[in-house]
Amino acid sequence: MSSYRAPLEEMRFVMNELAGLPQVATLPGYTDADPDTVAAILEEAAKFATDVLDPLNRPGDQRGSVRQDDGSVVTPPGFRDAYWKFVEQGWNGLAKNPEYGGQGLPQVVAAAVEEMWHASNMAFDLCPLLTQGAIEAIELKASDELKQRYLPKMVAGEWTGTMNLTEPQAGSDLAAVRTRAVPQPDGSYKLSGQKIFITYGEHDYTDNIVHMVLARLPDAPEGVKGISLFLVPKFIPDADGKPGARNDVHCVSIEHKLGIHASPTCVMSYGENGGATGWIIGEANRGLEYMFIMMNLARYSVGLEGVGIAERAYQRAVAYARDRVQGRAVGLEKGAKAGAIIEHPDVRRMLMTMRAWTEATRAVAYVTGAAMDNAARHPDAAMRARHQAFVDLMIPIVKGHSTEVAQDVASLGLQVHGGMGFIEETGAAQHYRDARITTIYEGTTGIQANDLIGRKTARDGGAVARAIAKEIAAVASRLGSSPDADLQAIGVRLAAAEGALQRAIDWIVPAVGQNTRVAHAGAVGYLRLWGTVAGGWQMARAAEIAKQKLAAREGDPGFWHAKVATARYYADALLPWSEAYAALATGGGEAAVALAADRF
Ligand SMILES: Cc1cc2nc3c(=O)[nH]c(=O)nc-3n(C[C@H](O)[C@H](O)[C@H](O)COP(=O)(O)OP(=O)(O)OC[C@H]3O[C@@H](n4cnc5c(N)ncnc54)[C@H](O)[C@@H]3O)c2cc1C
Repeated sequence: MSSYRAPLEEMRFVMNELAGLPQVATLPGYTDADPDTVAAILEEAAKFATDVLDPLNRPGDQRGSVRQDDGSVVTPPGFRDAYWKFVEQGWNGLAKNPEYGGQGLPQVVAAAVEEMWHASNMAFDLCPLLTQGAIEAIELKASDELKQRYLPKMVAGEWTGTMNLTEPQAGSDLAAVRTRAVPQPDGSYKLSGQKIFITYGEHDYTDNIVHMVLARLPDAPEGVKGISLFLVPKFIPDADGKPGARNDVHCVSIEHKLGIHASPTCVMSYGENGGATGWIIGEANRGLEYMFIMMNLARYSVGLEGVGIAERAYQRAVAYARDRVQGRAVGLEKGAKAGAIIEHPDVRRMLMTMRAWTEATRAVAYVTGAAMDNAARHPDAAMRARHQAFVDLMIPIVKGHSTEVAQDVASLGLQVHGGMGFIEETGAAQHYRDARITTIYEGTTGIQANDLIGRKTARDGGAVARAIAKEIAAVASRLGSSPDADLQAIGVRLAAAEGALQRAIDWIVPAVGQNTRVAHAGAVGYLRLWGTVAGGWQMARAAEIAKQKLAAREGDPGFWHAKVATARYYADALLPWSEAYAALATGGGEAAVALAADRF
């Protein structure tokens, strides 16, 4: 059995060299995040992930969370204790505002730490992940009174948070939300309705849970412009801020699902006994807008789930491939005995594919995390806006592409195990099952792709997309004219992939308005094209830095050689997928919408 080891050297490299942590650490409020301090934080997090979370992952999957007859939910043995250790060590408030007890570290640092939680125990980390989202919404838009009452408890981890969007008839289309909120004379609201699929809607970690709920006021307009956001605690805080009266919100059942068994997915009923008391966040009818602000962070986190699960599946596959003896590998010297399957070229292909996708999606995610930090804290307003534009474009790519990649990587991990991958006890199957939700929740890949072609590309006439593509083209051209054979080959491949991206942008911008159904049929192709090329961009930069370090005899040459080999594999074997994605993105989906619905 393999146990999770955080890839610390790789994480430090991506943060420092690709994402530019030293620059982020010069931003106001982030000056404590110098590379040495961050390295120490990562080491502590890695210990927690390996020693506390990883050993609970499989038993948590086997046991699952269980709802009792009284409506309470019991999480698997060890999870509650792990949660309190997590909170006591201060992991909950890592990137949160110091004003409410957080540590105020940059997002790029939080991203690496978060990746470790996802890799070691994704079902566990969903609770802190949703709490972060709820904190974000309250901090951004709630009244000062709500902030003072709830944020310190939530940042400290004493109370957790949830996101209550989905209803039976309102999934991707939140305009269909029906939960009602009726104003009360004291300024509060009474909520009634049913929410489904609510992650950690009920659990036994903490003595209070704070629900963020989308609902409609009685006079609200139809559709998306009539949805408001409410804060509904499980227990209403008393005058001392302690959990007081039980609110009228209950978990009526939990779902039986493919993966993340330890994470309770709850059906929540509001107002069966007269109405659940809640308070409005921000202005009436602007709830969906607020939700989208907070969903950006949640979508980013789900992208990191993809990276984490891919890393874990890769590590498990490598451990198995070193151990499992089967046949004599082709091309080795005559007389060699049967050896470990890692010697078979096709097994190498699978492992290298897993490794290259994982490194590329990690690099893109951390670079986006650093851009979030610059968008929030850069002293120059024009730079803040530029970074924010980059972040806005990258969020659906980090979410959509990293999670789709995680499916392939987890599936390859299972394949490396042969028949044993299909058997639960190796653990490979759990990663495959757990990964499967990541392309669905926080907006499916189709929804991310709609966002990417519409709001993020066509709306500004492709300006931001083209500006980023230009940066990619500059790296491609620099490497393409390098005297170094590896860098030159990578540069040539990257230039071809960037060309495909340019063509797709040129096609998409007018097509979204003029050839709408075909553009949307190819939108996931456009998203995967972006993800693949952005990954190639970062891998190319990584290879260039690795070559410089080798020439300067700095650091571990083994690490740099591996980096170059992985970047080369990415360029030679994975980047060419760009052409296929571009074909789908530029009208290749036409036949999908040409066929009548009743022909399927
Ligand atoms: C384990 C789990 C945990 C969850 N946690 C939460 C949570 O904590 N809080 C919460 O509020 N929700 C949660 N959800 C709900 C989740 O966000 C939704 O399942 C998801 O948004 C998809 O909605 P849906 O299931 O209704 O699918 P549908 O919206 O019915 O989609 C079905 C298919 O149609 C496609 N589709 C729909 N509309 C479009 C469109 N406009 N363009 C292109 N394709 C489209 C989708 O891509 C998908 O392939 C969770 C779900 C699960 C399974």
